Amino acid sequence: MPYQQLNSDNFVTDTTNVPDDTPSRWQTFVFWLINDARYLERTRFRSPRSLDLWRLIPFLAIHLGCFAVIWVGVSWFAVALALGLYLGRMFLITAFYHRFFAHRAFESSRPFRLLVAILGCTAGQRGPIWWASHHRQHHLHSDTALDPHSPQTDTFWFSHVLWFLTRDAFPIRWKQVKDLKKCRELVVLERFDWAPLMALGMLCFFVGEWAQASYPSLETSGWQTLVWGFFISTTALYHATYTINSLAHRYGRRRFDTPDHSRNNFLLALLTLGEGWHNNHHRYPGAARQGFYWWEVDLSYMGLRVLKTLGLVWNLRPVPSKILEAGRARR
Ligand SMILES: [Zn+2]
Ligand SMILES: [Zn+2]
Repeated sequence: MPYQQLNSDNFVTDTTNVPDDTPSRWQTFVFWLINDARYLERTRFRSPRSLDLWRLIPFLAIHLGCFAVIWVGVSWFAVALALGLYLGRMFLITAFYHRFFAHRAFESSRPFRLLVAILGCTAGQRGPIWWASHHRQHHLHSDTALDPHSPQTDTFWFSHVLWFLTRDAFPIRWKQVKDLKKCRELVVLERFDWAPLMALGMLCFFVGEWAQASYPSLETSGWQTLVWGFFISTTALYHATYTINSLAHRYGRRRFDTPDHSRNNFLLALLTLGEGWHNNHHRYPGAARQGFYWWEVDLSYMGLRVLKTLGLVWNLRPVPSKILEAGRARR
């Protein structure tokens, strides 16, 4: 079966005619590094749900790096850096990867779009096109067998963390992102989505070295800011983001009778700057806000309104008043 044919439908399950052209380990490494899914797509049919070892290694390394805190210790400077990077990158994921790239809930200029895409890659959640393609699949088939990460049809841990480490989830679902495929600069960025994350790691280290040399009273070091700003902050960011796929489809209140199991969860909304209003979001995914009422804290939406005032984004799509009224009535 020619590659094009396979690629036209990412989810062919008939493996009878798939040629045995498993790449060598070295080839697999290179393809993984440049996010070239062509060869991996061919091999994944034999074990689509098995974990992809190459991607498991850096993911585990980021978690293990947190334990180095035993040796580097803690300072206010390092904790502030970790917190700032958590909040900043959470905003990039929720406001831009999710609401902008996946749902097109507002508009922006081409240069600004590229800037937020590059900065978004520092969250270590692949590029915006990959992210949006799987997320759109989630909305199209929420909590069914075709949902890439449902805690209803699969285990909690699969929906939380394992799903994106399987071979099946490695390629972009191009069918879902025909609009984004036209943005050539974004397609190039997808190949090197790991580069901004690496750059962030280096930056964290040098910021600490600079602070140690210039302001010794801060009692920090390059290794300390690397552990806090990069490893701890990124691990926390990972798991907070994943709770929306796992916990927000299990725990919380349902204001709207959506066909899925999405929930509104105040704690998750705080943790993820507004994404915890997930039942609202499934009711009307196209809106720029997910907290539909003033008492539903949605910090990402507040951030977007600031960016709108600055003229960097515009046409924030509102929630239709009919839906707002229906939700009020159900309260
Ligand atoms: Zn969902
Ligand atoms: Zn969504």
